[in-house]
Formats: sequence, C-alpha cells, structure tokens
Amino acid sequence: MRIVFLGTSHGAPEVGRKCSCIMVETGKNRYLIDIGIDPIPDLKNRNIPVESVKKVFVTHMHGDHISGILPYIGGCSCWWFRFSNPEFYLPMDIEKFKIGMNAWFDMLGSKIKDFAFHRVNDGVICDDGTIKLTAYRTKHCEESYAYLLEAEGKRVFFSGDLCPDGPDKDFPTEVLNAPLDLAVCESAHFDATEYIPLFENKKDNIKQLVITHYTEQRVPFIHEMAATLKGVPVAIARDGMEFYI
Ligand SMILES: [Zn+2]
Ligand SMILES: [Zn+2]
Repeated sequence: MRIVFLGTSHGAPEVGRKCSCIMVETGKNRYLIDIGIDPIPDLKNRNIPVESVKKVFVTHMHGDHISGILPYIGGCSCWWFRFSNPEFYLPMDIEKFKIGMNAWFDMLGSKIKDFAFHRVNDGVICDDGTIKLTAYRTKHCEESYAYLLEAEGKRVFFSGDLCPDGPDKDFPTEVLNAPLDLAVCESAHFDATEYIPLFENKKDNIKQLVITHYTEQRVPFIHEMAATLKGVPVAIARDGMEFYI
C-alpha cells in the first residue's frame, strides 16, 4: 500500500504546502482522504489515471478539507467523464450538499454526472473488497470524523481534525488496541506534545507516526514529541511525501 500526501497544510496553504488531501493506493485503486484541493493536477503530474480514484472520504466540511470537490466533480464530469465514477462520503446532509453543488454547476452552465454520495456515520462506512473504512465521530465540529483504513492486512489511521481542547478529549483510543502501520495525526489545533500521554503506553502499537496539518510554529513541539516517544518513528508531513507499508 502506498500513502501519498498531496496536501499537508493546516487551514490555509503555506509555501510548498497545500490544504488537506491524502491519496491511498492499493492494487490499481486509489482513494482520497479529504479533498481540500482539486487533486487532478497532482494525479496528472504523477501519471496516475484520474479514473483510478474510486472513493473520496471527507473528514468534515471545513473548506481546507472539502474545497477541491467542485472542480474535481467538474473534471470527472467533463474531461474524464467516460471512466471516472468516484463515490463520495460526506459528513453532512447529502440533499443539502447537492443543492449547493447543483447551484454552482447551474451557474456555470455545466452538466455533471450522477455520482454516488453517502452520508458518513459512526462505524464501518465502506467495505468494497479492497479497503474497509471505519469512521469514528470526533468533537472538532458538528459532524467530524477520524478514519481507520484497513487493506492488505494493514491498518492506517487518519485523525482528521480533533477537538481544539486537545486529543485527550477526542482521540478514538480504541484504534490503538491493535498495531497501526501508520498513524496520521493533525497538529493544527494543539501541540503534538499533547499526544504523548495517549501514545506513551501504546507505543508498541504505532509503527510509524506522521504529523500533518500543523502550523509552522508548532513544529518544535513535534520534535519534542518525537524525542519523548522513543522507538516510534515520527515524520513531519510535507507535500509529496510517500509511505510504503
Ligand atoms: Zn483543518
Ligand atoms: Zn476543521
């Protein structure tokens, strides 16, 4: 399995860092976790067929996690309309989303394909024979989720955005009860050192930790966390970073 960080910035882009978008590749299929940017330019630059993206999972409806969806839907309805049929998993009322989406494309005078949209709920939201994705409700906003992706016998965790009061109030600790091959955690709303009490006793179950969605001023705390959690490799995500697990 390959995990590619297409966008690693926090609420706003930074130099060399776009808003949230992570691609997961397993076999010939690709999946996206968040779509804060239109992923098509990155897919093209990597020679990845646009139509190989099968599903898009959004953690919550803040702009830095969702803003790329309309240009992406437009692209999949036009240039790549023949074979591109991504399904979308959104944590909001789907009819309400469609009203906004249709208003946008009506304004442009564009026709769009009839894509499948699913509302995210707690529990297993996708099990397509390639990946299994479990959603854990978080307290970041009205409807926000962390995701556990299982494929090829591997487990990958994505925190999404968590409660600004700290991960001790919000982190779905049950995911740490079995080994995680990769844990992708945010640090936009609190310092990474706040994860230490949660992770210290579960260190053996975290094979690789990646901190993403951080603001530059929080970087020193990521280093401090890495120094404290000895034995757990900690990476600071940058756009274009890839992990093979
Ligand atoms: Zn965010
Ligand atoms: Zn957010």
